[in-house]
Amino acid sequence: MSLPAGATIGIIGGGQLGRMLAISAARLGYRTVVLEPQADCPAAQVANRQITAAYDDQTALAELAAGSAVVTYEFENVPVAAANALAATVPVYPPARALDVAQDRVSEKTFLNGIGIATADFRPVDSDHDLGSALKAFGGSGILKTRRMGYDGKGQRVFRDMEAGGLAGTCQAMGGVPLVLESLVPFEREISVIAARGLDGAVAAYDPAENVHRNGILHTSTLPAGIEPATAEAARTAASKILSALDYVGVIGVEFFALADGSLLANEIAPRVHNSGHWTEAACVVSQFEQHIRAVAGLPLGSTDRHSDCVMENLIGDDVLRVPELLAEPDLMLHLYGKAEARPGRKMGHFTRISRRT
Ligand code: AMP
Repeated sequence: MSLPAGATIGIIGGGQLGRMLAISAARLGYRTVVLEPQADCPAAQVANRQITAAYDDQTALAELAAGSAVVTYEFENVPVAAANALAATVPVYPPARALDVAQDRVSEKTFLNGIGIATADFRPVDSDHDLGSALKAFGGSGILKTRRMGYDGKGQRVFRDMEAGGLAGTCQAMGGVPLVLESLVPFEREISVIAARGLDGAVAAYDPAENVHRNGILHTSTLPAGIEPATAEAARTAASKILSALDYVGVIGVEFFALADGSLLANEIAPRVHNSGHWTEAACVVSQFEQHIRAVAGLPLGSTDRHSDCVMENLIGDDVLRVPELLAEPDLMLHLYGKAEARPGRKMGHFTRISRRT
């Protein structure tokens, strides 16, 4: 059953992803209510209503459930308990299980390996002793990450050709939280696939984007990616497999490392719309945001065809000063997020340059 026009979609999280979801929801005739503690957040500026409260505030969650025909979210650290509590009274998409899997890098990789999708080798690390053994097993190199709450490369430390000694205090310096050591992947490129699954089980995947990061933050996504068609197909197939295994509804972002021999290792899954899918709003008729709203509203999925090649670039901090010159370019789509203050490292907007395919 699809949501009738005029129905309200609840969105947990009020950042730029929520903002772009709310805009797409409005275009499809829906109303939106956003749960977000920060007043006048990017999403609330374009939504019908904001509930200004913490994501785990029970009264606010009950108000969100009562006022929404379906609830979705724009970030993967929504408390699983909150998603489960909501799901007792209102449909919540993507399902809470996707949050559960994606919130912990060990459960994420265990899940992926369990459905036949390769990842970097990994070892859970709870002490400097564990770290020493794991580094030894990986030949002295690896990347140490916090298991939970990591984003934009935060909470990570790279070890290269380290002797296993001299690690005392490392885990404490990482915050004394559960960690995971991953083997260092000699990747040639980083790619990602944005895919969606509808309420009816239909799956649609966009072309993989090739991503370049700067200081741990996504800098550009380029289409087409410099990979063979078979590699692109393998990435799309892996994303579809993940969606089916999670009985998923909505858009997912899956990041991969592409190796020189064309093989792929999955790095991360994001159970939401994804920064590396922003290009879809300029180069496809149906963007990832509309696709997500279609899925959670029970509407048919749209086409994922790409009518243009393109490069999406994020505007971080003072990059936003480039806006006047960017607007002078033809075939450039600009999107600003309505954030008042351009702090260093803060995502202020993005733009996509398209070149039409002949
Ligand atoms: P993540 O937070 O897992 O997305 O990692 C941030 C960035 O660190 C990735 O986009 C890669 O550039 C790099 N990275 C993460 N994991 C690995 C790995 N196992 N081997 C090599 N580079 C990695």
